[in-house]
Order: sequence, then C-alpha cells, then structure tokens
Amino acid sequence: MAGLEIVRIPVLSDNYVWLVHDPVSAETMVVDPAVAEPVLAEAEARGWKIGAIWNTHWHPDHTGGNAAIKAATGAQVIAPAAEAARIPTADRLVRESEEVRLGAHAAIVMEVPAHTAGHIAYHFAGDSVAFVGDTLFAMGCGRLFEGTAEQMFSNMQRLAALPDDTMVYCAHEYTQSNGRYALVAEPDNDAIRARMADVDAARLAGVATVPTTIGQERATNPFMRAQTSEILAERRAAKDAFRG
Ligand code: ZN
Ligand code: FE
Repeated sequence: MAGLEIVRIPVLSDNYVWLVHDPVSAETMVVDPAVAEPVLAEAEARGWKIGAIWNTHWHPDHTGGNAAIKAATGAQVIAPAAEAARIPTADRLVRESEEVRLGAHAAIVMEVPAHTAGHIAYHFAGDSVAFVGDTLFAMGCGRLFEGTAEQMFSNMQRLAALPDDTMVYCAHEYTQSNGRYALVAEPDNDAIRARMADVDAARLAGVATVPTTIGQERATNPFMRAQTSEILAERRAAKDAFRG
C-alpha cells in the first residue's frame, strides 16, 4: 500500500495543520484546520481535492477553518461525538474504536479526554501514523482544561503502548519550550539533553520539530514518562507555571 502523503501547514503563531493525501484513491483530508485559506491554497497547488476534515477537539485553533473549507469543497467534517454541541459543522460524529478511512488507509479513533472533555486521536496502525491534536506534544502534553491528571496519565500510557516507530503528528510547535521544562523535570536524562541540542539548532534555523515518534517520546517526554498520575499532575502544574 502506497504511503500517505502528509504535508505540514504552519498557521497562526504555532499551529500545524496536517494535509493528508492517499495517492491510490486520490482522497485528501485535513486534520484540525485552524484557518481555511492556507489549507485551500496548499491543496489547490497540489491538485488535491479536500474530501474530509478530521477534528481532534473543538478548540477554535483546530476547527476555525471548518466552515469555509466545507463551503469551498463540500468536505465532510468528522468530529468527536462528545463535542458535537461545540462543533456545529460536524457531519459525522465518532467514538472510541470507530474506524475512519482515507481510501484504503484505516484509522482507529482513540478517546483521549483531558485537554478537552471529548478530545480524540486518530491512529493509522497500518501506516504507523497518529494524529494526536493537543494531547501529546514533543516532550509535552496538553493542558488540562476539561479533564484530570488521571485521564491524561491514562492517555499517555495508551499512546506509549503504540509501536515506537509510530510517527506522531501534534498540532503545535511547542517543542523548545517543552524541552526546557523537560530538562528541569529530568535533569539526569541524557536523551533529553541530546534531543534539546537538535531542537535548539532546528528552531534557530526555523525548522519544524514535529512530527515526533512514540519512541522519542518514551525516551524524552516527562509526561509520558511520569510513573504515576500524581507525578504527571505535579509536572503539569510545574510546566503551567514554568517560565524557561
Ligand atoms: Zn486545544
Ligand atoms: Fe491547540
């Protein structure tokens, strides 16, 4: 099976919108379009027709482009069932373990509540790809706006159980700030130190540090590495207050 083509579209101050194309079926979808114009322009430039929008959660920097992309392309909006009321553009509501397809590529919905109450991730097991929205970041995790540290702990455990080579597409470029905190949380972790050298060089050169992989996160992410929900809670609170 030919691989998915995944294009990063940087928008707003630090969001990444992911445009995903299956060359076999010629189907295209977009994950979490914060805005419409750059997404429509990128698809147009590639001769791709957007047929679907896949949302991970209701926040405006993930759904703000839904209505305009839908109006321009007729795309179907797929969104978490638990956030239906907050995503009025939704056409199809999905739940835990439901399958969503792009051509022959199947993704499974994972409910990962905590950043928002209905947050979901999409895992293409056959492609070793996961779209995780604002739940897992490179060396970080989402803030606990509508859920608990216990929920985020269980999300981290579930995601950590995916194969190490899984490519993780998160929705923000937060890596450098997360890494500065990770060095404080785990001062003896050489893998974090080594990764931060690469991240600092990349950011200096204006290069993106996302996607990451589950393997990299298992080695360097202080939230995924937290051994209890209490430790995750402490680290989340410390990161919220951290000015590195
Ligand atoms: Zn969010
Ligand atoms: Fe966000």
